[in-house]
Amino acid sequence: MKWYKADLHIHSVLSPCGDLEMSPDNVIQTAFRKGLDIIAITDHNSMGNSLAFRKVANRYGIFCFMGMEIQTSEEIHIVSLFDDVDKALAFEKEVYEVLPSVKNDPDYFGDQVVIDAEENIIRFEEKALINSINWTIDETVLKIREYDGLCFPAHVDAVTFSIIGQLGFIPPDSDYDALGITAKCNIQKFLEDNSYLKNFAFIRNSDAHYLNDIASGFSEFYIEKPTIRELKMACKKIGNRALKTY
Ligand SMILES: [Zn+2]
Ligand SMILES: [Zn+2]
Repeated sequence: MKWYKADLHIHSVLSPCGDLEMSPDNVIQTAFRKGLDIIAITDHNSMGNSLAFRKVANRYGIFCFMGMEIQTSEEIHIVSLFDDVDKALAFEKEVYEVLPSVKNDPDYFGDQVVIDAEENIIRFEEKALINSINWTIDETVLKIREYDGLCFPAHVDAVTFSIIGQLGFIPPDSDYDALGITAKCNIQKFLEDNSYLKNFAFIRNSDAHYLNDIASGFSEFYIEKPTIRELKMACKKIGNRALKTY
């Protein structure tokens, strides 16, 4: 087993709010330079660029999880990660069906670029990815489980689009693998204010929309290999696995 440095919440050019410099080559080269071993591309409500990023990540010896940042009907952001490509794409298909049929306005929100591993633009996603899907957070978690994914509510310490921001608290019986925190979160202070969450595992990520932000927040996993099963074990501290969140 060994320690893997991971940033599991990174946006690409597909996210309307993601900078156009967030292409596979740029992102993976930056991740490599910053010493990341594992990343996840987590665009809003879509995995349209995941395969291209995985391909480029492979060339650099970086493992890239299939991922997505879902916006639930309560306007809560939750990150889902998968290691099985077929299951990930089947899950994505279901999400796309419950995403409202509203056209993206590129002038207002930005372009939603689907790109290949050679940096060619394949197409522009026309459906607005920035909206809420028609599933509640509980329904979303059940679906993620159905496809053997890992999930954590994103940036729980943030005010907007976070589970605490929207609901005011995290239901104690919640079945999340971990809670995601922002690059800037002071965990000690956060737990002083929210001591009822002390038994959760915390995963810090950058939530990068710009190259410079990649790895500004990261976590380290002590695992055998980068799989969903191993990440889950690290979150639960099972079988000598461990998770360090700085
Ligand atoms: Zn978010
Ligand atoms: Zn995000």
